[in-house]
Amino acid sequence: MKNVYKKLFLLNRSLLGVDNNNALEIINSQIPLKIYKFKSGQPCFDWTIPKEWKLKKAVLKDLNNNIIINAEENILYVLNYSDSFSGVVTKDELVKHIHSNPELPDSIPYRTSYYNKSWGFCFPHNRLSELTDDKYFVDIVTEFNDGYLNIGEATIKGKSEKTVVLSSYICHPHQANDGLSGVILLLYLYKMLAKEKKLKYTYKFYFTPETIGTITLLSNKIIDPAKIEYALISTCVGYGDIFNYKRTFLNNHSIDNVVEQVLQKQNSLLVDYSPFGSDERQYSSPKIEIPCASLMRTPYCLFKEYHTSFDNLDFISIDLIKKTSYIYREIILLYENKPKLISNTNGCEPLL
Ligand code: ZN
Repeated sequence: MKNVYKKLFLLNRSLLGVDNNNALEIINSQIPLKIYKFKSGQPCFDWTIPKEWKLKKAVLKDLNNNIIINAEENILYVLNYSDSFSGVVTKDELVKHIHSNPELPDSIPYRTSYYNKSWGFCFPHNRLSELTDDKYFVDIVTEFNDGYLNIGEATIKGKSEKTVVLSSYICHPHQANDGLSGVILLLYLYKMLAKEKKLKYTYKFYFTPETIGTITLLSNKIIDPAKIEYALISTCVGYGDIFNYKRTFLNNHSIDNVVEQVLQKQNSLLVDYSPFGSDERQYSSPKIEIPCASLMRTPYCLFKEYHTSFDNLDFISIDLIKKTSYIYREIILLYENKPKLISNTNGCEPLL
């Protein structure tokens, strides 16, 4: 699995594009995937499927032609979905287009501008002091072409049409814990659940760009809320000793109770739903109302390496991901066997 992780990590993934398709190919080499394709420009609720972003080059030079930054070395150096810009700019103008992270000054931040046209570089904060000239040459060449937003779906059929959704996101390039650790966990989990006989529920695993991918699945009725028992978002499972469970918006759905029961034996923190985070936001939206939770270790925003080049393969532990996949399995199998017994939706003594 380490090899798979490395291959996925190194791809220049984004919302759509060749490396997203390559990522789905790699996942498909591990578990059987059905691929859904959605064309750029297609409306999905309030949103529109974006164009494919192609980076031709992103180079920052001084006026003596010395290269300061070249995104060929690392795609994080350029704002993801950056617009093209070529020309000489003053240092003051340039600095307005540089993103840096003073908290982790040697890291390259990971920043996107999917829906606002803008150009920019992402720079280690400590290197800003190197910019001592008055003027610089910026050469960013990008293309926005019609393409396809591709989503992978793996299915384990159960007796019932009632479905459990297990989802993670593939859009973060060169980020190991945020997104990719969840993908790796789902690969472990699929392989374990596929061996189970007589599953009650059907299990659907989704590998999608975050936000727009899930919105696309819901808008195109690939996921029908009426058929969903519950959903779990798998991300940030490769770092940290403490489990962090973000409850469903219902707060006391059976899945919340089952997870709570399983985590009693673990060092864990249970937090209420909030409309901030990952794709649980889309599933929990009014009119969708799928009970969706997220079981993580140290979650996004709570580790300082988050959205920087330091969220890399050295930062995460495959062993922790594997151990977390066993917890997911335990939760899923417990839910299969006795959800109603431990559910109490009225807030008073349950009628047993
Ligand atoms: Zn993220």
